[in-house]
Amino acid sequence: MKQEMICICCPLGCRMTVCKEPEGTITVTGNTCPRGRQYAEKEVTAPTRVVTSTVAVSGAVCPRVCVKTAQDIPKEKIFDVMHEIHSAKACAPVHIGDVILQNCAGTGVDVVATSNAPAEPHNAHDAPKIESPLR
Ligand code: SF4
Repeated sequence: MKQEMICICCPLGCRMTVCKEPEGTITVTGNTCPRGRQYAEKEVTAPTRVVTSTVAVSGAVCPRVCVKTAQDIPKEKIFDVMHEIHSAKACAPVHIGDVILQNCAGTGVDVVATSNAPAEPHNAHDAPKIESPLR
C-alpha cells in the first residue's frame, strides 16, 4: 500500500510518501526530520487526533466555552466524542483546565476547558463597569 500525506507536525508541511508492505514493513520518504516518520507510521497503523470544540455553559457571561481532548484519541472515535461534547452542558464558572467530560466516549481521555467562562453577575450592581475611553 502506497500513500501520499502531508506531515502536520510543524508549519513546514513536508509531503511524504508512505509504503506499507504486506509483512508490515513501513518505509517513509519526503520527511525532513524523524517526527515526520513517526507521524506517518502512526497514520497508517493507529491514527489519532486531538479534538477541539465548544460546550454549552449555563449561568455564564458567554454561552459556550472552548474545550479539547486532554490527549489524542483514536481517529475512529471522533464522531462519538463530538456527540458527547455536543450533548454536554457545563455550569459557570468554568476555568481553563477544568474537566468538562471524564472518559469521553469510553476513550479513557477527558475533555478539558481551554477558555474561561465566568459566572454572569446576579444583578446590575455586580456587573463589571466598562468605562468608555472616549469620555
Ligand atoms: S517532517 Fe519534520 S520538518 Fe517536515 S513537517 Fe514534519 S515535523 Fe516538520
